Amino acid sequence: MADEGGFDFPKNCERVPFVEEEIVVLRQSIEISEELISDYYKVTTSEWKRYRYDIQSLRDLQEEEVTDSAFAQIRRYLRCPNERLRGSEPGDYFKICLQDHVIRRALRRDPKILLLPLTTYIVTHELIHVIRFAKFLQRFLVSPTERDSEEVRVHELTHRLLHRRKIHGLAEVLSAFRDCRNMENFLGAVA
Ligand SMILES: [Zn+2]
Repeated sequence: MADEGGFDFPKNCERVPFVEEEIVVLRQSIEISEELISDYYKVTTSEWKRYRYDIQSLRDLQEEEVTDSAFAQIRRYLRCPNERLRGSEPGDYFKICLQDHVIRRALRRDPKILLLPLTTYIVTHELIHVIRFAKFLQRFLVSPTERDSEEVRVHELTHRLLHRRKIHGLAEVLSAFRDCRNMENFLGAVA
């Protein structure tokens, strides 16, 4: 189906999860992003355990975690849904919900945009949000104005972390998505 209509994509019909080859590329980009974030924020292994998050793609998302209008949604849980509640360990848990079909649409629209650099950009960007929430550098619920300036800051940080990295097609992604306003939505806390 032609996709020339931008974001007015028909609902549901093209919500096709990544196939195995695409998942392999996604895993690679998660590895690159986590390494860059660890170096930049000096995150130790034990800190990674405290910053509780998960990155999931379309095949593992619940209906309300899917959107057609952003590359990702960040959902905050008051505790990890798969963990038994331990009174001594309160803390938020963030689920980064990647929208495979929206990512694929960007690739289809512009042949210069490739999957590995694009998912690396998206995952790095979303992890910066999560780290900033976890370190209390940024509150989860903010006014639209605060949210806009945080978005500009996170794009700048993403650029700073990635621009020296040698990944084929990264330069094109960096210039195309630097001001992207459809990176993610934030879903409120779930107990
Ligand atoms: Zn963002």
